[in-house]
Amino acid sequence: MRQGLSADLIARVLGAAPKYTLAELEAKFPPRNLPDGAFVTRFAPSPTGMMHLGGLYGALIDCKLAQTTNGVFMLRIEDTDTKREVADAVDIIKKSLDKFGLAYNNDPVYGPYYQSMRRDIYHSVAADLLARGLAYPCFLTGDDMERIRDNQKAAGFPTGIYGEFARDRDLTDDEIMAHLDAGDTPTIRLYSTGNPENKIFCKDVVRGSIGFPENNEDLVLIKSNDGLPTYHFAHLVDDHFMRTTHVVRGEEWLPSFPLHVQLFRMMGWNAPNYIHTSTIDKIDDETGKQRKLSKRKDPEANVDFFIRDGWPVDAVMEYLFNIAASGYEEAKTKGAVKTIWEYDMRPKKIPMSGALFDMKKLEWWAREFIATLPVDALVDRVVAWANEYSDEHQKMQVADTAYLSAVLGIERDNPKRIRKDFITWRQTLETVAFFWDDLYIPNTEFEYNRDALREFLAVYDAGDDKDAWWNKVVAIAEKLGIKNGDVAMNLRVALSGRTNTPDLYSMMTVMGAARVQQRIKNVL
Ligand code: GLU
Repeated sequence: MRQGLSADLIARVLGAAPKYTLAELEAKFPPRNLPDGAFVTRFAPSPTGMMHLGGLYGALIDCKLAQTTNGVFMLRIEDTDTKREVADAVDIIKKSLDKFGLAYNNDPVYGPYYQSMRRDIYHSVAADLLARGLAYPCFLTGDDMERIRDNQKAAGFPTGIYGEFARDRDLTDDEIMAHLDAGDTPTIRLYSTGNPENKIFCKDVVRGSIGFPENNEDLVLIKSNDGLPTYHFAHLVDDHFMRTTHVVRGEEWLPSFPLHVQLFRMMGWNAPNYIHTSTIDKIDDETGKQRKLSKRKDPEANVDFFIRDGWPVDAVMEYLFNIAASGYEEAKTKGAVKTIWEYDMRPKKIPMSGALFDMKKLEWWAREFIATLPVDALVDRVVAWANEYSDEHQKMQVADTAYLSAVLGIERDNPKRIRKDFITWRQTLETVAFFWDDLYIPNTEFEYNRDALREFLAVYDAGDDKDAWWNKVVAIAEKLGIKNGDVAMNLRVALSGRTNTPDLYSMMTVMGAARVQQRIKNVL
């Protein structure tokens, strides 16, 4: 510990006297009034301009833990990196949460929820550390730091600002004043008293207690260029005063875990519970090896991909949820729960490694999900997607919703045998495109039995019920000495261009007499 700075000097170092005392902050952000065992979680993205699938995974865990325990799920915007700011980035995050059905609850008492608007709070806590000699103003320039780093490397020391390399950690008041008089703006650094020879134990809810060497780096708490906090300091201050009970974050934060525990201890605050989640991986198409989803290589790393491509968001969430809570699939299959919101999330079951995202498995969830949709809901979803994201052809398909309903309604009335060929809204429209004359592609490869088609055309009556219609098919088969199925196949291909379609009779009913006759005539 060094000697603390006087209130006057602190005001000069921080550019202004702190707005609050710690006691005032404690009173301003009182403990939350929640039932026992309620989790307070937060999704704390940096606004980078895209929402990563791993971010959505974390947000889902946050949201579910809060929902399961009648707690609170917050959204906090970590916008302290002013160099990386992107227009609309916050909108992208909010829209994604909304599209994927994750509702946050930002109680104004604990706000503001943009870190850039919490400067007074950070400065007030920094003032406390400066007064207690647990932080200090540091005037190292970029060049100084580079020189230190080069020397450390040359001498084989770990790089960083620590111990003897932390030039300014013991500046006297006069020296500090001289810098300030010269117009230098300091960063505020932690005055670390950690010793890497000692171990510090940090407890992760799932991983258990992990031993790390103590942190001896005088890490930056407040940056000099904009007076905003680093992630480390903002995490300390915000998760304390927002009364977060559980910090769910990616395993990339494990190396800074000892520093964070050190900071909480210095403040005499209870640290929140931590859950460091596994990264979301995939199997690389080329190497066959498991690797992290890459923003650059994998379109599915950006959650917007699923929206644009028309994946049912419910299925994406179910699949992600099943990665975090692997009992969900069984509970759902058995009918014990209908949606992820009915299934309790247990923090201890969150996997700590190998969270794999596989598009094939997502397809399964999507098929199952769409199969449960009543036709009206299916039509609504398809129409909403097409109007926003599809090409002109698909927009045309959804223009006549009555026809679209009839098409998508085929084989949806028997709950025991619901078709499972729809995966995405886009692919649904593609699958049924042949129902529209402009999109129907006649099959010119198929070897038609033209007699069968001719016979059918002669007896076809759109008013026939299914039995009457089938009897006609059977009669034609007998007359021509071919199988019933051959007659049906000829009709199927003539009408759809394809050998694989939904129920033929329903298809003809939906298409209507004129279209059926026209297509058969065209083949003939
Ligand atoms: N802004 C940090 C990130 O995006 C948040 C980590 C955390 O949840 O504490 O990685």
